[in-house]
Amino acid sequence: MPLDIEEFRKAGYKAIDRICEYYYSLQDKSVVSQVQPGYLREALPEEAPEHGEDFDAIQDDYQKLIVPGLTHWQHPSFFAYFPTACTFEGMLGDLYASSATNPGFNWSCSPACTELEAVVMDWSAKLLGLSPEFYNTSGIGGGVMMTTASDSALTAIVAARSRHIRTHPGTPLDKLVIYVTSQTHSLGLKAGLVLGLQVRVLDVKAEDNFAVRGESVKKAIEEDRESGREPFVLVATVGTTSSGAVDRIDEIGTVLREYPNIWLHVDAAWAGMTLSCPEYRETARLEAINNYATSFCTNFHKWGLVNFDASTLWVRERTLLTDALDITPEFLRTKHGDEGTVIDYRNWHLGLGRRFRSLKVWFVLRSWGVEGVRGYIRKCIALNDIFASAIRSSPDFELVTPPSFALTVFRLSPSTLTPQPLSLESLNDLNRLFYTRLSKRHDLLLTQTQLNGVFCIRFAVGAARTEEADVRRAVDVIREEATLAASAWQEVKATG
Ligand SMILES: *Cc1c(COP(=O)(O)O)cnc(C)c1O
Repeated sequence: MPLDIEEFRKAGYKAIDRICEYYYSLQDKSVVSQVQPGYLREALPEEAPEHGEDFDAIQDDYQKLIVPGLTHWQHPSFFAYFPTACTFEGMLGDLYASSATNPGFNWSCSPACTELEAVVMDWSAKLLGLSPEFYNTSGIGGGVMMTTASDSALTAIVAARSRHIRTHPGTPLDKLVIYVTSQTHSLGLKAGLVLGLQVRVLDVKAEDNFAVRGESVKKAIEEDRESGREPFVLVATVGTTSSGAVDRIDEIGTVLREYPNIWLHVDAAWAGMTLSCPEYRETARLEAINNYATSFCTNFHKWGLVNFDASTLWVRERTLLTDALDITPEFLRTKHGDEGTVIDYRNWHLGLGRRFRSLKVWFVLRSWGVEGVRGYIRKCIALNDIFASAIRSSPDFELVTPPSFALTVFRLSPSTLTPQPLSLESLNDLNRLFYTRLSKRHDLLLTQTQLNGVFCIRFAVGAARTEEADVRRAVDVIREEATLAASAWQEVKATG
C-alpha cells in the first residue's frame, strides 16, 4: 500500500533508527558476507506482488534478507580495494536530493541543481589546490559532477577524439590511439572497447615504483607517428589502483608540450583527495597537474567522505566538452541556454539527465569543513604508516613497493618461517596460499594484486571508522595466517 505523508514520516523515522543500529553494531559484524550465490532468488517470490504490501514487512525484509548479503565497506576492518566513503551528511544529502528528484539537465530544469554544482565544484577545486583556470568562475575552464571515474575518463576521451578530428579532418579512426600504462585502471581499455579505438599500453618498471616516465611516452609517440598512427589522448594516474603509483606528470607534460594535440587526462580517482593537504601536494604532483592536465578527475565517493556516486571532473576549457557533446534539439532550447548566460550541464557529459549530487558534497564540506576533510585524510595515512612499519620491521614480510598515501602493497618473504630463501615462483605460490587463507577470514578484508609478475597483497586504509586498534588487530591476523600458510606450504613441499 503506497505510503501517505504521515506514514512516510513514521517509516522514515524507523529507517533512520535502524540505520543508527546498523552503525552501532557494525564492528561486530563479519566484514564479508557469507551467503551463497543465488541465496536471494530462493528467498524471494518469482514475481512482484499483485497487491501492495505493508511497508513494515518490506523494511523488515531489508534487515532479514538484504543485510546478510552485504559486504560491509564501512566496517573498520575493511582494507580491500579502495574505500567507498559514506557519511551521515552524505546520506542526508542523498535523501533530500531524492525527495525533490529532478533530472537537472538544463539550468532551467531546477536552477539550484546547476548553480550549487558550479559553486561546489569551485569549492572542491580550491580544496584540492587546482589552478583557477579550472574554476567555473573562470568562464573558460570548469568542473562537472559525474557518476564514476570511468565515466569521467570516457567523456574526456570522447572530447579528445572530437578535438583531434576537428583539427585533423579526414583522419581515419583506425589510426587513432589511446595511451594508457600497464597500471592504468581498466577504464582505459574499456574506453577503447566502447569507442572502437586502439589502446597502447605503456610498460612501467619496478625501479620507477610503477610510474610511467616521460621518456617511455616520448619513445612511444615517436614510434607511433612514424608508422602513421595518431596518439591523441594519454591517461595518466595519480595513485594507481594496484600500488598507488604516481605517474611522472611533470615529465609527461614536458614531452606533450611538443604535441599539443595530445590530451592529458589525469585520473586521480583515489589519491586526488590527498591534494586537500598541502603537505602531500608535491608527492601527488599538483604543480604538474596545474601546468599540464587537460582534464583532471578525482572521486569524492572514494576517499572524499561523499557517498557513492560523486566523481568530479575538471577541464581547462569547457568548450572542449561542449564542442564534442552539445546537441540542442528544439525541445531542450531555453532562453538562458540560447543566450549562453547559464551552464547547461547536459552538454558536458554523455547522458542527458543527472542526479543532484552536489547537494551531498555541499553538506559534507560544510559539516566537516576543510579542516575535517584534511584531518580524515591525515588520519588514514597515519594509520597506514603504522601498518607499513609493522610490515617493514617483520623479518618475514616485505614491501613490494614503497607505501603510497594510505595504501601498502606487501608480500610474505620469509626469513624465519622457511629454512631457505625462495625463488620468485615459489614466493608467488606461497603468497597465493597465504592470500587464500586470508580471504577465508570474515573478520577483515584485503585484496590481492600483481605487479610485473609479483603476486602481492594490498592493504588500504580509508573507512571512516577505522582506528589504530583495528590496524593492529589486522597485523596480528596477518602474522598468524602467515605462520600457518608457511607451515602448510612446507608440508605440501615435503610431501611433493
Ligand atoms: C577506483 C578507480 C577507478 C574507478 O573508479 P570508478 O569511479 O568506479 O569508475 C579509476 N581509477 C583509479 C585510479 C581507481 O582507483
